[in-house]
Amino acid sequence: MNKNKFDLVVIGGGPAGYVAAIKASQLGLETACVDNQTSINNKPALGGTCLNVGCIPSKSLLDSSHHYEFMSKHASSHGIDGKFTIDISKMQQRKNHVVEQLTNGIEGLFKKNKVSWFKGKGRLASNTSVNILGHDGKKQTISAANILISVGSLPITLPTVPVDNKYIFDSSGAIHFNEVPERLCVIGSGVIGLELGSVWRRLGSEVTMLEALPDFLASADKDIASETKKIMVKQGLKIQLDSIVKSCEIRDRQVSVTSMQNGKEVVSKFDKVIVAVGRRPNTADICGDNVKLELDDRGFIKVDNQFRAFGNNVYAAGDCVGGAMLAHKASEEGIKIVEQIASGVESSINHTNIPWIIYTWPEIAWVGKTEQECLAHREKIKIGKFPFLASGRSHAMGETEGFVKVITDSETDMIKGVHIIGANASELISEAVVAMEFGSSAEDLGRIIHGHPTLSESVHEAALAAYEKPIHF
Ligand code: NAD
Repeated sequence: MNKNKFDLVVIGGGPAGYVAAIKASQLGLETACVDNQTSINNKPALGGTCLNVGCIPSKSLLDSSHHYEFMSKHASSHGIDGKFTIDISKMQQRKNHVVEQLTNGIEGLFKKNKVSWFKGKGRLASNTSVNILGHDGKKQTISAANILISVGSLPITLPTVPVDNKYIFDSSGAIHFNEVPERLCVIGSGVIGLELGSVWRRLGSEVTMLEALPDFLASADKDIASETKKIMVKQGLKIQLDSIVKSCEIRDRQVSVTSMQNGKEVVSKFDKVIVAVGRRPNTADICGDNVKLELDDRGFIKVDNQFRAFGNNVYAAGDCVGGAMLAHKASEEGIKIVEQIASGVESSINHTNIPWIIYTWPEIAWVGKTEQECLAHREKIKIGKFPFLASGRSHAMGETEGFVKVITDSETDMIKGVHIIGANASELISEAVVAMEFGSSAEDLGRIIHGHPTLSESVHEAALAAYEKPIHF
């Protein structure tokens, strides 16, 4: 007979939930995870949005399309010439294989760590029980001393833009195109818009991005945002700011998009449209009739500083509690919660040093405060900048676009923020995260010996520039 009593039941097996479940088991808690995600061929799969329809499949497509763009535009400068073609269905098969390998990997980790996996939709029935409606239609109730709700988020839809995933796609549907659309419209030029827009532009689509705000990448440092826009436009993305999409209509196998652009109504026609206007918490249907979780006005679960959502033993973490909607932030919250359950000791997470990464090419990554945030708080700052154009490794790679910007406190030299646009920024930012987490000054970073020739020397040089002078610029 299946076990139905646990020390911890986790509802939702994405980056918050599956990581928490594995960690809880490692700490000796009898753990179950209830998850209703399905992947390719409607097969139940762990890993949530991130592994199945988000971070991992989109990075797989970004890598494939990056290689294609390298072959079509840059390979000849390396002396590599010849005929090549792109097979979209093979590219999609590879992506599906990557997803399958990784989701199967988590299933394997569950087995190894003895986490029980319930395949179906879980609902909080009380503070010690969870009702499950299985994929097979079977209903059951399991009980738990502790419950973690990590049900993630869903794409926001616009009422007048009907997503059918045939002509108008949400971000989950847009990773499955089996042909390159000739004219593609992306609504929203945020993280998802830029990543998916880049994939299909590289493969040959004419991509128009309609962004409601007058500022491009409003949450990034302004230097990074303006450099990104310059590079993306040069690459061929058409970015229309101050363009609020009002409605979309599918007619004659085309989508007619009506938007207000700088106050004027504009109607344009596209073959496909991707809606990438943000995500909302997936909290509409997570409780049975007898329980009421407190939600804020945007639907996020309200939690205290220990992530308690209901009584002393029901916790919530990840996208469904708000803050940065990032997989790595969600996982750390999950770990903190189960460590607390296992040890009884309360702790806290430092949410200030969370890296943000956008996987365009060049990549964009940052941690800490922007120059504008510092100035708005009247903080006295120094800025060190180093362009990749002055890096030996960048030249060898043929990747000289972008720069590193280090912001410090002008009195103490403590690092307040690091902002990078350039090749492999997603990896380079980790050094800045570690430095900031350890309370490093720019001089500390500038006195650390960095390998040569590496891109990381540009982080080193930007730190030198912040407290003294760079050597190579
Ligand atoms: P986002 O908030 O980054 O961008 C959405 C954009 O859509 C905004 O700029 C907004 O002004 C615009 N917009 C809203 N309504 C509009 C309208 N009617 N017409 C035109 N523009 C409109 O959201 P996203 O790109 O959908 O991403 C969702 C979440 O997923 C984000 O919180 C992000 O952090 C996360 N995510 C992260 C990564 C990563 O870390 N690389 C990748 C994908 C998603």
